[in-house]
Amino acid sequence: MSRILSGKVVIATHNAGKLVEMRELLEPFGVEAVSAGELGLPEPDETGTMFAENAAIKAQAAAEASGLPAFADDSGLCVDALDGAPGIFSARWAGASKDFSGAMARILAELDRRGATDRRAHFVSALVLAWPDGHTELFEGRVFGDLVEPRGTAGFGYDPMFRPEGFDRTFGEISSAEKHGVDWQSGNALSHRARAFVALAAACLRRPG
Ligand code: IMP
Repeated sequence: MSRILSGKVVIATHNAGKLVEMRELLEPFGVEAVSAGELGLPEPDETGTMFAENAAIKAQAAAEASGLPAFADDSGLCVDALDGAPGIFSARWAGASKDFSGAMARILAELDRRGATDRRAHFVSALVLAWPDGHTELFEGRVFGDLVEPRGTAGFGYDPMFRPEGFDRTFGEISSAEKHGVDWQSGNALSHRARAFVALAAACLRRPG
């Protein structure tokens, strides 16, 4: 049985792009969201080998430190012809300076180096909601597509090089609302994070009123 979230929640991220998206997704549920950055919480080491493990590490650390329920997303881009890389190392491929132009160029260079013509890739999001008493809930979402030369300035991270299946435009060329693609009526969504979030919302969130 899932536990229902109400009141205040910590969004356990120091990533500005993710924070904006998580706040947008939480908005209809009347939950007050404060970020780990705003609370001055430290960033724990992501020592897991899977998205879900790292999301749990971040959510549990924030819940323990704040005494509030906390959300964390661990996410990344998995490229088929690179055996799933950069995967859980997606942030690290951009280095300390968070140079995602460089990280995208590195992916394309690595594909060329391997002589790979297969451009298929997918984003993964593992969302964990953790309470200070140790209770956790896990939800995962994926979006499949292919990689192109980076286009567009919307979004963050690897968005400009990722074209979701059925789209001509990349995530860098569409609005965040279109990237979420959430239809609350049908429960459909587009992005990996929105897909995980819709599942989380069905289990743990209720609309006010
Ligand atoms: P982490 O989950 O904080 O370890 O970082 C995940 C990294 O994956 C981010 O820094 C981005 O580089 C990348 N990433 C995750 N989700 C997205 C997305 O929706 N668009 C673009 N890049 C993403």
